[in-house]
Amino acid sequence: MTDTTTKYIFVTGGVSSSLGKGIIAASLAKLLQAQGYRATIQKLDPYINIDPGTLNPYEHGECYVTDDGAETDLDLGHYERFLNVPTSQANNVTTGRIYQSVIDKERRGEFLGKTVQVIPHITDEIKHRVQILGKSGDYDIVITEIGGTVGDIESLPYIEAVRQLKWEMGNENALVIHLTLIPYLSAAGELKTKPTQHSVKTLMESGVQADILVCRTEHKLSDSIRTKLARFCNVKREAVIESIDASTIYDVPNLMLEEGLDKVVLEQLKLESHVPDLTSWNNFLAKHKNPKSEVVIGLIGKYVELQDSYKSILESFIHAGAANEVKVKVESIHSEYLQPENIATKLSHLDGVLVAPGFGERGIEGKIEAIRYVREHQIPFFGICLGMQMATIEFSRNVLGLSEANSSEMDSETPHPVIDIMEAQKKITEKGGTMRLGSWKCDLLQNTKIASVYNTTSIMERHRHRYEFNNAYKTQLENAGLKATGFNPETGLVEVIEIPTHPWFVGVQYHPEYKSTVANPHPLFLAFIKAALKHKTKK
Ligand code: GLN
Repeated sequence: MTDTTTKYIFVTGGVSSSLGKGIIAASLAKLLQAQGYRATIQKLDPYINIDPGTLNPYEHGECYVTDDGAETDLDLGHYERFLNVPTSQANNVTTGRIYQSVIDKERRGEFLGKTVQVIPHITDEIKHRVQILGKSGDYDIVITEIGGTVGDIESLPYIEAVRQLKWEMGNENALVIHLTLIPYLSAAGELKTKPTQHSVKTLMESGVQADILVCRTEHKLSDSIRTKLARFCNVKREAVIESIDASTIYDVPNLMLEEGLDKVVLEQLKLESHVPDLTSWNNFLAKHKNPKSEVVIGLIGKYVELQDSYKSILESFIHAGAANEVKVKVESIHSEYLQPENIATKLSHLDGVLVAPGFGERGIEGKIEAIRYVREHQIPFFGICLGMQMATIEFSRNVLGLSEANSSEMDSETPHPVIDIMEAQKKITEKGGTMRLGSWKCDLLQNTKIASVYNTTSIMERHRHRYEFNNAYKTQLENAGLKATGFNPETGLVEVIEIPTHPWFVGVQYHPEYKSTVANPHPLFLAFIKAALKHKTKK
């Protein structure tokens, strides 16, 4: 049954990839939420991987993890950061997952002897997935972002599903926003509309008429360009929305408000439009844009060339920086090139160092060297997942004197596996979706740095790992000054380590960066930036 109680908005992309459909979707959702509507966003990805969990960050940027343990597209991170509402498995669907469920059904004999085909069986499964969130009754409006660019072969079943849904739901219940690029030809000194005309036409060949055009542009759209776009693309004049390059993604909701995107949407969906309450959002923006001072943080990882690989960490710094009224200048440092000889030159000027999550051996010795330097030089240190594991190894080697200490991920023969494979992981052979994933409870010891950071002793945080702190070394490490201060209450797994005699040295096995939002900056990032600020003042 087609859902007619929820309103659906589809966001397609034309002309080019990387136009920022996720940010437009999140900004629109923010404007709707700020007018009292319960809005959520979903991303449909036309690739065949079941999820991005097995994708290299070079291919696909960061893998974002939800509370329910889904390994998802990084756009879901934007949705949560903008809306401050958790997403779930239902918010990200790939072609791989669609086909897998159709094939599983076929094997169970549920198609009763029929030939299973792209239309209607794959498109029916897409339509079903689109409506899961709406049918839950939790939302008034569901925004569905279709990955890829219109005209791609792999997007066709999705566009067909949108065509059918729009027909069944009617224009008052479903609308299509087409995000497109208006290129500027400097030789001609002109903005060009032709690529957009063609991509709208490509959509129409599949029977889908765009209702709203959001036009990415480096220059303002003149009246005549807007009129031309409206006329050639069959949309109302007020439904041509300019999306000019912004200095921060957090400006986009306001830019969309000025252009009236929310108004056109609500009018077509026959919903009341109000003045959105963006007070706290704008407070955040004001602080973000007017910092009183600056701290320099080293982000040590192995994917530093790519902004997207550590997306959530970088955004968490923005949230925590704004709350502390400081600009967080992040210096990306490639761990592969860190050696004892250059470590002081690379790190001595920093106000804090974050060692990033990661997998595999490449670059880990540089991470360990960096941790040694900041531990010995009293520079604030924050280790996340692999970063926490490396801190444990560093301490074991250089303080306990276990020079061959390692993680069994990096050296399966190490005599001192201070980080070891989790018991539950030992028998697992498949790679996809098999790590320790999602939200787990963690108890914090009283009178510790971590308990004071959270101001509570019971937290829930998200995980994505196979290896863990080896409890066989806990007493030795604690006696030498590295304390375990957060534990999984059921398994006793160590989730937090800290050095109480250091100004700020905290490692966490979980990923706090997935939970930082504009409305709720993460307490660990807040405290780390505060510590960096203090370090800077002392210098
Ligand atoms: N590779 C490590 C593990 O699997 C750390 C993972 C991570 O940093 N997300 O335990």
